[in-house]
Amino acid sequence: MDARACVLHAEKDLRIEAYPVADMQENQVRVRIGAGGICGSDLHYYLHGGFGVVRVKQPIVLGHEVAGTVEAVGAKVTRVKPGERIALNPSRPCGHCKFCLAGEQQHCLDMWFYGSAMRVPHSQGAFRELIVVEEYQCEPVGTSVSLGEAACAEPFAVALHAVRQAGNLIGKRVLVTGSGPIGALVVAAARYAGALEVIATDLHEAALQKAVEMGATRTVNVSMEPGLKAEEFTRDKGYFDVAIECTGAAAVLKDVIPALRPRGTIVQVGVTGDVPIPIGILVGKEIRLQGAFRFHGEYALAARLIKEGRIDVKPIITATLPIERAVEAFEMAADRTTQTKVQLTF
Ligand code: ZN
Repeated sequence: MDARACVLHAEKDLRIEAYPVADMQENQVRVRIGAGGICGSDLHYYLHGGFGVVRVKQPIVLGHEVAGTVEAVGAKVTRVKPGERIALNPSRPCGHCKFCLAGEQQHCLDMWFYGSAMRVPHSQGAFRELIVVEEYQCEPVGTSVSLGEAACAEPFAVALHAVRQAGNLIGKRVLVTGSGPIGALVVAAARYAGALEVIATDLHEAALQKAVEMGATRTVNVSMEPGLKAEEFTRDKGYFDVAIECTGAAAVLKDVIPALRPRGTIVQVGVTGDVPIPIGILVGKEIRLQGAFRFHGEYALAARLIKEGRIDVKPIITATLPIERAVEAFEMAADRTTQTKVQLTF
């Protein structure tokens, strides 16, 4: 059996083509994908053939932010049944390496995360009409949210994992730099975690508006002076307890550190190449610099919070196009002045 899929052959060469649907085993589930969000990594693969040292070396089905409807289940499956709507966790760790056994599955030594060119052969993605998945990947989302909203469980899980790295946020002043899809969801996650203030930055007003809709208490447009260099943020050794850095831009990190209180924490979510760090101030203020990579357990939490309407992700979904218009959708997603999350329907 074949089904249509969104396959990237090379930079800017994205094709909709027939792709084989695997035979379903007894612990597996066949899912009809309903919606899929285009992530920054999908976009980097499409626009530049990769990011950093990760390059697309062979055709790859893109996509890892998906949700759909269960079509059939294997004989031993108990978690879901045909007709049930689910968010699909794209994280597929091995389950038995030392990191999996320690509950740190995002560091699995044999991870098959959907739509990733980090390993060769590449780990194929989920922008396909039909896909056979493991039972454990399925998170039921009920009937009150759209599959597009359910597909946001993946980036929201990234946001929850990032916020978790910051430690207790109750009563804290939190800075979120970059108000794209991840930044906007980090804002929501920080509010959920008890932050007193969440101040979001971006270069674009449309993105800042999304941050407000997701719960930012204030915004700062850093395309205008003084931005984070404002005296209110830098006086008395800094204003923020925590900064969650979602841009990866060198200039942003340089402005974040003076605005952070001594012993504050920077959680770095945005990925880029090498960035110079003002080590003197980092040491002098005893600032903790913490990375955040993907998620694992947070996926189920993200799906549940969306399912129960406790986090409304609708504001970030700015466009939805059918799979036939995937190329147009990817071009749209590249326009940060108008788009936050562009999704495909299948
Ligand atoms: Zn593992």
